[in-house]
Amino acid sequence: MEKRRKKINRHVLSKRLAIAVLALAVAAAIFLRLTRETPAGAEADGRLILVNWTNPVPFDKPHGLVGLDEAFGDAVYLLNPEGSVNEEAGAAALAMFEAAKKEGVTGFMITTAYRSASYQEELYKARREREPGYGDDPFNNPVKVLPGRCSEHTTGLALDILAEDYRSADNGYASTPQGKWLSENAYRFGFILRYPEGKESITGVIFEPWHFRYVGADAAKEIYASGECLEEYLGQA
Ligand SMILES: [Zn+2]
Repeated sequence: MEKRRKKINRHVLSKRLAIAVLALAVAAAIFLRLTRETPAGAEADGRLILVNWTNPVPFDKPHGLVGLDEAFGDAVYLLNPEGSVNEEAGAAALAMFEAAKKEGVTGFMITTAYRSASYQEELYKARREREPGYGDDPFNNPVKVLPGRCSEHTTGLALDILAEDYRSADNGYASTPQGKWLSENAYRFGFILRYPEGKESITGVIFEPWHFRYVGADAAKEIYASGECLEEYLGQA
C-alpha cells in the first residue's frame, strides 16, 4: 500500500514536472520568437521600420519631418537645403557631424534625406527606360535606384552623406576620410551603413558606403557589432 502510494506520488510528480518543463519550453519559445521579431523599440512606423524590395513603405510622406536647413544650419554642407529629414534622425546626425569635427574630420555633404515615394518611382522609371530590365532580379543583380515605396528615403530616416570634395556616390567614397569615419563611427549616433558589402543578395541593393539609416543607438550598436544587415537583425532575411 505504502509502496503503491509512493509510486502514485512519483507518477503525479513526474507528470507535474513534465507539464512544468513543457510550460517553460513554450514560454522560452514565445520569448525567443518575440525577441527575434521585435528587437528593442521595434514599431511598424518607428525607427526600426523595414523598407525594402518586399516591404514597401505604406505612406508617401511620414510625420515628424523638419527642414534640412533647420536641422543642420551651417554645421554641414547641404546639396539640397530645401530638403527635409526626420527630426530625431536629424538631431542625431548633427551630433555625429559635431563629434567628427572634434575628431578632425570635416567636409561632409548631405545630398539626399527624405524623398517622396512618387519622386522615387520617377527616378526608378527613368532608370528602367535607360536600362531595360533594371531591377528585374535584384537579389542576383542588385540595384542602386529602388522603385517608389521601396526606398527608405521615404521614411525620412535615411541620409546620403558624401564629401564636399568627393561627390560621386560610388565605392571610392569608402576610402575617403569622411567615408571611413562614418563606417566606423556612425553607429555611436544611431546610424547604420544600411547596404553593406557582401549583403547584396539579401538587400537587393549594391554596396552603398554613403547611405546611412537611423535606427536608434541601441539597435545601431547591436547591428554594428553583429555585422548583420537590417533584414538579418529583424529576422526578415
Ligand atoms: Zn540613399
